[in-house]
Amino acid sequence: MSAAGGGAPRRAGLSVHALPVLGLTGGIGAGKSTVAQAFAAEGCVVAESDHLARQAFNDPDIRRRLLAWWGDRVRSCEGLRAAPDSVPPPVDRRKVAEIVFSSPEERHRLEGLIHPWIAHRRAELFAAAPAGTRALVIDAPLLLEVGLDRECDRVVFVDTPEPVRQARVQASRGWNPAELARREAAQWPLDRKRASADHVIRNDGDPASLRAQVRAVLAEACKAPTTGSPA
Ligand code: ADP
Repeated sequence: MSAAGGGAPRRAGLSVHALPVLGLTGGIGAGKSTVAQAFAAEGCVVAESDHLARQAFNDPDIRRRLLAWWGDRVRSCEGLRAAPDSVPPPVDRRKVAEIVFSSPEERHRLEGLIHPWIAHRRAELFAAAPAGTRALVIDAPLLLEVGLDRECDRVVFVDTPEPVRQARVQASRGWNPAELARREAAQWPLDRKRASADHVIRNDGDPASLRAQVRAVLAEACKAPTTGSPA
């Protein structure tokens, strides 16, 4: 671990929690979810945006809205079978992805619906953090791009060499180098992410190395006063 941004909390005033809030960033396949799990194992409460987004699609109100916008174009095959009118049928996330992939306006509309839902759920999760929680962790693929870092006391860059990331996403998602590059082009360049971070965790070693780095970041984050007022 190296502290890229000095010892003091980075954000001024937007963290409303008494506990430190850490945000994770890094390249695709760097292992942010894995690092988030390591923080959870050290007594942190983690809000994973990808996981929360999947939950959002199960919310009846969200489903109703998506079906009102896009109708049968996004209804899942499961939903095409008879369902009681009072229960909105499931929505196929891949079909939604196809729509928003080709239309920035539709993507914007979807984000306007889903992002506030995720933010609300994240706030609930953090508010329910059990006694003894050491820190709150946000694992969001676009943490910096959407300005979520303003809600963090510190940002942690998960640093993993490109060949290692490539091998991981090939194994876990079947992506070739062109697919990885295409998806990364939609995010900030890695240098910019790294330069925006307060800590760097290198994630190409063994679990013991990762654990040690996570503990070091936590020790430092818990030492400094947080920007929020006590709950
Ligand atoms: P990200 O959330 O940054 O896209 P993930 O946490 O999903 O990345 O990790 C991508 C893949 O790499 C997963 O299959 C995960 O199990 C694997 N992985 C992550 N960290 C390590 C590690 N230190 N050693 C081996 N495999 C890892």
